[in-house]
Order: sequence, then C-alpha cells, then structure tokens
Amino acid sequence: MYNVVIIGSGCAGLTAAIYAARANLKPLVLDGHEPGGQLSLTTHVENFPGFPDGIMGPELIENMRKQAQKFGTEFKSGAVTEVDVSRRPFRVTAGKDTYETQSLIVAAGASARLLGLKGERELIGHGVSTCATCDGYFFRGKPIAVVGGGDSAMEEANFLSRYASRVFLIHRRKEFRASKIMIDRAKANEKIEFVTPFVVQEILAPNGLVEGARLRNTETNESRSLEVHGIFVAIGHDPNSTVFKGKLEMDANGYLLAKHGSLTNIPGVFVAGDVQDHRYRQAVTAAGSGCMAAIDAEKFLEEHKG
Ligand code: NAP
Repeated sequence: MYNVVIIGSGCAGLTAAIYAARANLKPLVLDGHEPGGQLSLTTHVENFPGFPDGIMGPELIENMRKQAQKFGTEFKSGAVTEVDVSRRPFRVTAGKDTYETQSLIVAAGASARLLGLKGERELIGHGVSTCATCDGYFFRGKPIAVVGGGDSAMEEANFLSRYASRVFLIHRRKEFRASKIMIDRAKANEKIEFVTPFVVQEILAPNGLVEGARLRNTETNESRSLEVHGIFVAIGHDPNSTVFKGKLEMDANGYLLAKHGSLTNIPGVFVAGDVQDHRYRQAVTAAGSGCMAAIDAEKFLEEHKG
C-alpha cells in the first residue's frame, strides 16, 4: 500500500515525486510509455529558470529523476492499463502488476499527434518520426521534411538542419503559431526552406521506406511532390488520459480538468502537467503543477489519516 502513486515520469511527475518524497510519503512513480516525458525528446532548453546557458532536456530530466531518487522515490517501469478510483485505496494496474494507494497524482503527459495518413504509423522508424533528437542522426546528408507551424516544428527544423542536406518546413497556413524568435531563427537558417500553405497528402514509400511526399496547396489545390527521406511530424500533442475516460472529468479534447490547483472530481486524485494543460505546456509550468499536486496530496493524506 502506497501513500501516493504518481503516474508519469516527466517534469510534472518528477517534481511531484521530489516534493512527496521530501514530505516522507515514499512515493511510487510509474514511468509510463515515454519515460522522462517530452523533455527527454527535446534538445536545448533555454527557458527553464536557473540555467543561464540553457541545459539539454534529457540532462534536465535526468537531474530531476536523481533528485527524486535521492529523497526516497521508488520507480517502476510500465504504462498504466487500468485504474479504479471508485473507492479508496485506489488501484492502479500497469501490465501484470496492480498497486494500491491512498492518493494518486496523474501526470501522464501528452503524446505526439500524427497526421492520420495511410501507412504513416507503420512507417514510424522507416522514415516517419515524431522525435528529431531521437532520429535526426539517421538522415545525415539527406533531404527531410518537418510538418507543423508551432515552436516544436521550428525547433525540430533547426535541430535537423545539423544533419540533413535540406529541411522543408511544411505548414498548412502562411501564418505561424510559433514564437517570433523561433521563426526568425528558422528563417535565418540557409538549409531550411518554408513550404506554405501546404499539407502532406500522401507519404511516398513504395519500398517500405520514405522516399517522398505528395503535397497539396491549401489555397490553390495545386499538387507538388518533394523528394524527402524523412518526415518529422511536429503538429502538437494529445493528452494521455484514455484510461480515465468516464472516471475523471475531462474536456472535449481529453484534457483532465483541474480545480483549485490540482484537484479533480475524485477526492484524493490530483492532476499535474500536460495531461491537464493545453495552454501553457512548458517545463516550468509542468514542474509547478507537480509541486502543487504533491502539496495537495500531502494535505489530503493528513486530513484522511487512519
Ligand atoms: P502547437 O503550438 O499546438 O502547434 C502545432 C502546429 O501544428 C500548428 O502550427 C498547427 O497548425 C499544426 N497542425 C496541427 N494539426 C495539424 C494537422 N493535422 N495537419 C497539419 N498541421 C497541423 O504545438 P507545438 O509546436 O508542439 O508546441 C506546443 C507547446 O510547447 C507550445 O506552447 C510551445 O510554445 C511549446 N514549445 C516551446 C519550445 C521552446 O520554447 N523551445 C519548443 C517546443 C514547444 P495551425 O497553426 O494551423 O493550427
């Protein structure tokens, strides 16, 4: 029986673990299907306070993990397949193992969206990717495409320009959602070519490996083909909240609803990080909400002792 189980090991989950462990609650963190969350898939983080020269995302998250471990957090791998929050203790199942806990912090994060094209999912690892830092190296000297118009797309395009011979940045509108500094950086990069307003209509992979993409101009309907060996999809994320459907209140897009900080409709269940935040989605806001969830869980346990 645990005092607190934390679902997710990204920035929110690990910050919650640091606070809960320092409160002597001996938390259990369930890593989830993407240990370390989105920070582990990113490169240079320049806006996390305390690092004037920036820090690499994987290093930042590894530091948080060590900090949580130092204070007595237990970690187990595996993604959560089932939860029962109908009564306390709550039950959380990850694969073959079920854990009982007096309180629960859901920091399950959000996962990369795909374009929904035929063959796209099957081509992950064969030219389609949602993680530039993981896969960029495989495209040395080859032309690639990045799809999206937000900060992620700009960041990935810049990062990939280190390896690729050419980076086509495909976006469905002429305006961008990304911040000005990120757009300017991408525009100043000679290897990046902006292709707007276009959508990818078909991924061309006649031999099981990406060889190109067929695009459509969203204003004129004109078709165009690009020879690319990699397609990096950077079009945002969906919250990892499926196991909570019908159990915790969520909005139409599946983001869990937090009230008064980290509280949910079930007393003793708290939420933190991107699974409940489609607005800010920053490492520092995720960390802040993880801290709030741990403090709320601690208060809850204090009030429901014995
Ligand atoms: P985002 O800001 O939601 O942008 C998603 C982009 O993908 C949008 O341009 C959107 O187009 C496009 N898109 C969505 N669905 C599409 C589809 N089906 N087909 C084609 N295009 C599609 O997501 P994000 O870039 O991942 O950023 C998420 C958050 O993380 C933001 O708050 C961002 O500031 C932050 N972030 C910060 C940094 C940094 O500061 N270093 C780096 C990465 C991310 P429309 O614009 O037309 O909707």
